[in-house]
Amino acid sequence: MESVYQKEHCSWVSEKICLRDYFSAFSAAISTIGSCKNIGSYTSKVDETNNNIMELMDVSFTNDEMKILSETCSINQLKVPGEPPLVDVKCVKARPGLYDKSRIPEAASDLETIKRLSKRIMNVETIGQLKYRSSIWLRDDLFQAADLEIGKHFLVTVRVYHPFCHKIGMRNTHGPRCSQEIVLLGNQMLTDLRDKILCPSDLAVSSEVSENPDQNVTQKTTDEYKSGFIFIEDTFYSDYRDPTNRDYSRVIREWAASHDLGPFQTGVMEKTKFEALTVRLGYPYVYQHQGNCEHLIVFSDLRLLHVSDSLSLQNYPCCRSISSANARYCMICNYYVARWITFENERVPFDPCFFCEHCFRSYNYVDGKKVGNFKAYPFYDKTAL
Ligand SMILES: [Zn+2]
Ligand SMILES: [Zn+2]
Repeated sequence: MESVYQKEHCSWVSEKICLRDYFSAFSAAISTIGSCKNIGSYTSKVDETNNNIMELMDVSFTNDEMKILSETCSINQLKVPGEPPLVDVKCVKARPGLYDKSRIPEAASDLETIKRLSKRIMNVETIGQLKYRSSIWLRDDLFQAADLEIGKHFLVTVRVYHPFCHKIGMRNTHGPRCSQEIVLLGNQMLTDLRDKILCPSDLAVSSEVSENPDQNVTQKTTDEYKSGFIFIEDTFYSDYRDPTNRDYSRVIREWAASHDLGPFQTGVMEKTKFEALTVRLGYPYVYQHQGNCEHLIVFSDLRLLHVSDSLSLQNYPCCRSISSANARYCMICNYYVARWITFENERVPFDPCFFCEHCFRSYNYVDGKKVGNFKAYPFYDKTAL
């Protein structure tokens, strides 16, 4: 695949990492300094951490001396008078305007970080490129059990992007937009990732209901079409949990073979753990479902489980952030979020055309009878997910 999308052009893409080998070696390396063997109380972890720091510094301090050292080196020492209170960034939309430049104290204006922050706030074009600009952070740690071992398990962060239309020769002006960031354990399956991905095309209704929009349609496309694959490092991992599932990759592999691309391998999604993968950080891979709904997926972070992470197995996979995407509004009133979509509607200038509940009923029906020719389907906006 790298003959098509070359890593050399992307400075942010890492070398290939075999997850199982890398984290086995990493885990073994840190266990030799005894830092992460037990899950005890937070206090004992602090003591343990202090001992490790002293061991690394080759010094020996009493608890009081260590306390003075911690306070002296504390990040609180960087505070300036009149500094605004800390913001709980986990619950706040990370977007421009969060940091108000006018409130930066005069005394701190010489700091290089403040200068760069000022420049960034001023430069609207740069704001558009910030990675977490339109993310909403979520907390998904409902369970408090501590059944995972720090330093032994590792976490994989995957960014899933909205589908977008790529035209050869035309630069996508908005670029791919991240829809979700999902955190998984290394020993979870690829299907755990797939089941956590939210996409409106899974909720679409496949039957046309313009003659009777009141009929109770509960059959969603995801109940009917369950096939899908995840493409990572020249391998198509297909979902075969349902016996009727198709191998979407077959036609792609056949096409690739006729164009001197490949060879590509195949795998089974529900039998493949993340730890068995070899991946590049920052390199785009693909998740495809519902026939041709394609999402780029990117491994953005790999690290050992830490004391500040949720230690309950039940909290994984978790959705760490979602995009604050704008809703699709009704094309008639432009006020309410769309609930219906029509195709080949001869009485409107748009195809497809989106309607809210009220406009759909009042414009397309008189006394409950359909007016004109059109096809109608219930519409689920991505913001409603
Ligand atoms: Zn999709
Ligand atoms: Zn409307």
